[in-house]
Formats: sequence, structure tokens, C-alpha cells
Amino acid sequence: MDIPEKFSSFGANKRQEITRLVFEIAKRERLMPVEVLDRIPADCRAFAAVKAYLVARRFPEAVRRQEKVSGSFSAVEIDPASAMPLDRGENVPAPGMIYAEASVKDSPLVRRAVQKYPRAGLTLIGDYKTYTGREEFDIHAYNRRTRDLFIIQEQYDHFKPCPCSPGVVPCGYHNANLGFGCPFECTYCFLQSYANAPGIVIPENLDDFFRVFNDSRDGVRLGSGETTDSLVFDDLTGFSGRIVEHFRAFPGRVFEFKTKSDNVAGLLDVKAASNIVVGWSLNPQKVIDANEHFTASLARRLAAAARCAAHGYRTAFHFDPVIYFPGWEAVYEGLVKRLFEAVPSESIAWISVGTLRMTPSQKKVIENRFPENTILDAELLMGADGKLRYAPAERLEIYRAMLAWIRRQAAASTHVYLCMETASMWHDAGARVNWQA
Ligand code: SF4
Repeated sequence: MDIPEKFSSFGANKRQEITRLVFEIAKRERLMPVEVLDRIPADCRAFAAVKAYLVARRFPEAVRRQEKVSGSFSAVEIDPASAMPLDRGENVPAPGMIYAEASVKDSPLVRRAVQKYPRAGLTLIGDYKTYTGREEFDIHAYNRRTRDLFIIQEQYDHFKPCPCSPGVVPCGYHNANLGFGCPFECTYCFLQSYANAPGIVIPENLDDFFRVFNDSRDGVRLGSGETTDSLVFDDLTGFSGRIVEHFRAFPGRVFEFKTKSDNVAGLLDVKAASNIVVGWSLNPQKVIDANEHFTASLARRLAAAARCAAHGYRTAFHFDPVIYFPGWEAVYEGLVKRLFEAVPSESIAWISVGTLRMTPSQKKVIENRFPENTILDAELLMGADGKLRYAPAERLEIYRAMLAWIRRQAAASTHVYLCMETASMWHDAGARVNWQA
């Protein structure tokens, strides 16, 4: 995008800021950049005046509320070839190649993968990290990730505390690294700027994970839905039933599956255990249609949750990320109502609420992979933890409303908490600060 002659005296950094603001205004207002530039008042010639005009136009609510606007005015670097094609037929595409570490080549998981994907080739590799270490990894590789399935023996990263964000209230969650990479395409997914795996990676050695889990303490809350969807590959791995059976012997430790799928057959094949929680991320169908590509519809997620509850599992729901749009209140209130119509409230162990957040580098990946997105049109401001979020006042309004709608119908035993928010936001929103399962 070219900045017109009249701003040619601005230095490179200033031109970059102007270009970023014009780009985002044009996208948000569905205009051509030149139309935005043409509307800059003629008397705005100094950089400060031009920027003030553009900031007020890009962040009108924040300016009205006198919020500090220190957004991310990074260079606009859009590569049209980076856009993620969203017209694939299958929700979970079959891989073209299965790479198995030699140490797991005779495992049941590799055998099942070969049977399930008969058209995929099988390549034996020595060690995953050495094999992939030489590869360049970029957005194009991320877009191709479902083509390659790696089945490995995980040696070190079995589970660790959720990294959370500095300064926010932790929820005590520990991530079990039972897979890396997800075939779904959520526009806001943090993996797209974090993942450095050229394919989907699944560990074969679940028993080694169990040995490490056995050393954890009672009260720990584990889950596998951070670096992958917990259940999307469950018909291949069969992990869920084995996890339920294992944790049945450790009633003081809680394991949560987190999913946007309805792949619950493995869970229904075994007797439920009281310390297993099956969690779904929920959003209104219009948000799913626009942002959670290839995931199960809201109706299918709720039907799967109802089946799990009827089978005896505790359930959990994560309204995360809540996406702001004009008229969000009625749509999200309807979503909360729909949850409690579908799932018995006494089955619900906990419900979390979080709002859209991302790092500046994630934002750059999103605008490349999903050029038609609307989530970046919102007024996202830089927080103290270096993440872009809705303004504090807007988030508070969302949390207060969501907590009120949830509490109206939730059982007294259901824990309701905020995800990745500060203690003061919890306090102002009326959320309980000490997280306990
Ligand atoms: S389901 Fe989760 S892990 Fe998968 S793409 Fe969506 S946000 Fe990412």
C-alpha cells in the first residue's frame, strides 16, 4: 500500500504506523485504502495530527472512553498465498504420509493409522526432532500440516503447568502433551503462531505418560486440550478410554478432555469415572460458522455433552473466546440458555468465560491466513501482558453479563471462573478468586 506524496516527509516508522492504521480502517469499514487516505482532513499535515485522526477512526470507542491506545502498529505484510483454503471436503482430512519413529513402528497405534488411512504412505524415521529439525517452518507449512502425521515416542514433555499469562489469576491447569497440532481451523487459534511442527504429532507411549502422572499430587487438574483438541483424533488413538480407566484409580486427581468435536464414542465405551470431566468450548453458531472452521456444530457439541452426562461423566463448558459484535448480548444469552436446556446443570463441574486475546505475532498470522476475518476489526488494545484484548470496560461488561446469565441457571456446585484475567477484573466482575476443582 502506498502512502501519498503529502506524507512522504514522514520517517519510515511513522509511515509504517500510518500504513497500518489505514489498512485496518479500510478493512473494518469495507473501503479501499485510497478512500481512507482521501478522507483525511486537508489541515491534518503533521504526523501527530494525521495519527490522531486515524486512531480516533480506528478505535472510536477506546478514544471516547479515553483508553490508552497502544495497539500494534506493525508493518502490513500480507502474502495472498498464505490464505488458508477453507473448502476442503472433510472436517478431519486423512494424512498423505504417516511418519513413525522406528521405536514405535510395531505399535498398535501405527497399525491402526495404517489401516485407517490406507492411501497414506508409511515412512520410518529415526527421531522426530532430528528428522524435522532441518525444515523451514512458516505459514505455508502450517497450512499444509494435516498432510503429515507423526507418531512418536515422547521422551520429556509429558505434562507441565499451563504457562498462563503474567499477572493473571492462574486456574491450576496442567497440560498433558498428548498430541501437538489440530486439524480444525479456528481463526483465533494460538497454535498458528506457536506451532513449529510440520505436521500433526501424536505420542504412542501413553503408558509412559501414566507413569509420570502417577508421580503428580492429589488435587492436580490435568487436561490434554491445550496443544491439540483432546478428542479429535480419539477414534484413531483410543486414548480416552485408557485415560478414564487409568484415572479411576486416582480419584483425587482430575483429568479434563477439552474439545470442539463430538467424537465421544471412546468415552461412552467405558464406565464413567467421577474424576473425569469432559469439556466443550462453546460459541454461538454464527461465531462457529465464521471462526471455528471444520469443528462440530453447536447442536452436535451439546448433543455429545448430553450423551456424556447421561453416561455419568461430569461436564465442563468454556465460553472462550467470547467474540464481541453488535448485538452480542442476545446471542450469547441465548447460547447460555441453550446449554442449560441441553445438559443437566448438576453434571456441570465448571464453566469458564474468556474473551478474545492474542499476541501481536498471532494477529499477523491471522490476517494472512484468514483475510476475510472480522475478529481483527474489533478494537483490540495492548494489555500489560503484551496481548491484544478488548478494552477493560468492554471485557468487564461481557464478564458481568455472562456470569449473571450463567449463575441464574447453574447449580450451586458449578465453579464459574474467568480465563486469563487479572485479580482486579475477577473482583470487579464478581468472580470468585480462589480456583478449586
Ligand atoms: S480447536 Fe483449539 S487447537 Fe484446534 S484449531 Fe481450534 S483453537 Fe486451535
